[in-house]
Amino acid sequence: MTYPMTDEDRDIQERARKFVNEELIPHEVEAEMNAGEIDPAAKERHTKLAKELGLFAMNMPKSLGGTEMTMFQQTLVSEQIGRVTNALGWVVHTPPAWAPGVVSDEQLQRWIAPTVRGERSECYAITEEGAGSDVDAISATASRDGDEYVLNGTKMHVTSFNHADYAFFQGKLVGGDHEGEHAMFFVDIPSDGLRVVRVPAYSHTYADQHPLVEFKDVRVPVGNLVGEEGGGMAYTYEWFRYERLMIAARCCGAAERLIEEATAFAKSRVQFGEPIIEFQSIAFMLADSVTELHAARLMTYRLAQEIDEGVDVKIQHAHCSMAKLYASEMANRVADRAVQIFGGRGYMRENVAERFYRELRVDRIWEGTSEIQRAIIADQLAKRGTQALAG
Ligand SMILES: Cc1cc2nc3c(=O)[nH]c(=O)nc-3n(C[C@H](O)[C@H](O)[C@H](O)COP(=O)(O)OP(=O)(O)OC[C@H]3O[C@@H](n4cnc5c(N)ncnc54)[C@H](O)[C@@H]3O)c2cc1C
Repeated sequence: MTYPMTDEDRDIQERARKFVNEELIPHEVEAEMNAGEIDPAAKERHTKLAKELGLFAMNMPKSLGGTEMTMFQQTLVSEQIGRVTNALGWVVHTPPAWAPGVVSDEQLQRWIAPTVRGERSECYAITEEGAGSDVDAISATASRDGDEYVLNGTKMHVTSFNHADYAFFQGKLVGGDHEGEHAMFFVDIPSDGLRVVRVPAYSHTYADQHPLVEFKDVRVPVGNLVGEEGGGMAYTYEWFRYERLMIAARCCGAAERLIEEATAFAKSRVQFGEPIIEFQSIAFMLADSVTELHAARLMTYRLAQEIDEGVDVKIQHAHCSMAKLYASEMANRVADRAVQIFGGRGYMRENVAERFYRELRVDRIWEGTSEIQRAIIADQLAKRGTQALAG
């Protein structure tokens, strides 16, 4: 596909593609067979290369040491990262881009700038047993006590807690002018009162875990409050928009890899004296897959460019939901077909289709389920009309 892009865009895309093909993909099966872990020397090399290639912290300002790519360029990189399984692509880390505009100078120097340099890393403690899609239903609390806040609550699915050295904790304020509103805090790991309750197993095989984490009377200085009291939800929404676009991009990358691998297999696998691609039932699965990928990619690329052009944030909100919904559902259909095309081999964990079949499932759930994306899109459609969303 020859989508119009600058030489710089194409160079970034090629750099990311080469990194994924030559460095990351060769370690997939090793990771799958070792609970997501690979040789530490290889991991170190990947992290170093991600920085040298300018892919690490691509969403962060140059003044902090990031590479400040355009949204379109970030989409191109994420798409390539999506082509690799087992979260090996997470070495291309994107710290919270909303943070520099919100946090204090001290917080910037203590947490965000070291994260951009790859010296510290974060995790997000927002979801709870009683509050998933309905983030506003969280029961975690933050109470002011002199120069400190006291944090309480149990958080679920805290991705990368085992690798992070600080968490963004979201709770509702108790007392004060913003009683009942949300607030977000930096919490160092470890801290007194912070403990892992349980580490559940998930469908994918990643080195990053998603434990349940209890915050029991965790005391943090007032200086750990992110932005203002009552601001917690706004930062989460900004992050959702960004991640939804990046999920769409990664799903396009995954679908591309699956279509390439399944097509190569279908051309070489002979049954009944013919390559199976000669059977219409197989060929049509590939035809549907590549058609849907093309549509998803055009939607995703155009959205990224729209954001670079400064489109209204409400339209961005709807379009991020549309791209995430369509691309994640598309990639899941493609993975299902790829498993079918590979036959029994597609059910083996050493096969890329089997791994993606499990891994892509969560893209229809996290950062807002497909149902929540539809609710957002329908709401925006009712408010703004068809022309605004698909004009
Ligand atoms: C692997 C993984 C990693 C995660 N990492 C993190 C993390 O790092 N930090 C964090 O805070 N959270 C994290 N999450 C949580 C994730 O964001 C939630 O799982 C997600 O938002 C859905 O919430 P839920 O699982 O509670 O499902 P629920 O909200 O309980 O939804 C259950 C079902 O009901 C549907 N539903 C709910 N409300 C509506 C509605 N209004 N209309 C129609 N249907 C509806 C949903 O679509 C879904 O099908 C992670 C989750 C997973 C699986």
